[in-house]
Amino acid sequence: MLKDKVAIVTGSVRGIGKEIAMLYAENGAKVVINYPMHSMGQEAKDVVLEIESKGGTAIAVCADVSSFEESKALIDKTISTYGKLDILVNNAGITKDMLLLRMTEEEFDKVISVNLKGVFNCTKHASRAMLKSGGSIINMASVVGIAGNVGQANYAASKAGVIGFTKSVAREFGQKNVRVNAIAPGFIVSDMTDKLSDSIKESVTGNIPMKRFGSMRDVANTALFLGSDLATYITGEVIKVDGGMAM
Ligand code: NAP
Repeated sequence: MLKDKVAIVTGSVRGIGKEIAMLYAENGAKVVINYPMHSMGQEAKDVVLEIESKGGTAIAVCADVSSFEESKALIDKTISTYGKLDILVNNAGITKDMLLLRMTEEEFDKVISVNLKGVFNCTKHASRAMLKSGGSIINMASVVGIAGNVGQANYAASKAGVIGFTKSVAREFGQKNVRVNAIAPGFIVSDMTDKLSDSIKESVTGNIPMKRFGSMRDVANTALFLGSDLATYITGEVIKVDGGMAM
């Protein structure tokens, strides 16, 4: 589905990002694995080796997406290696959950800088290459950005911002055949949700019509569809992958 396409997936050494990168590579894309400076480069190399062992093509590039300059270096390295960029998946994200009364300025700023400013940084630098030949930008939002969540004012604000950013840039880039969409996962089995207590998991599951958390593959399949030519008339869309939770 992605034969000969070049894709960057930010924050792709583990979790949903890794799942998307592996699925993209399986579907013929040349993939850029991205990891932040504090992460271990060896893990990124291992993901590249895993992709190569399955016949795929990948490189690993260290860049903190919250840095404007490092995001530029990530895009530049992709273009100098593969000559173009077709798909950008802005997946990197963090949580620093706290009730608002106790949330520090640093906890608010950090989440916004990675989750929202990071999406701006990578999209801004990728746009120059993409506006020449078209492309697909996929931003990882969250149902929390639509419905809000106790203890996640910073995270919800960042993801609501991602949704507004997605729709605005979709309007700006539509004529140039650059599609910009968001995925809003609900609760996905992952390190991020493993931190939740059993009682919270139980009460969340009770509110999901499908009565289970989603899998990382559920999210990756949606990213595959949006990145592919099956979605060529879809832009400015927010696709919820949440088992019906936020209807
Ligand atoms: P995860 O397991 O915590 O993975 C996040 C990845 O982003 C990690 O590889 C992390 O690297 C990387 N990262 C963090 N800060 C970065 C930075 N400044 N620059 C570049 N990379 C950075 O999270 P996940 O569950 O896979 O979530 C992926 C995305 O889906 C996030 O945007 C998240 O908000 C969204 N989402 C997740 C869920 C869920 O239920 N899991 C639900 C809704 C939305 P390090 O590990 O080295 O820090």
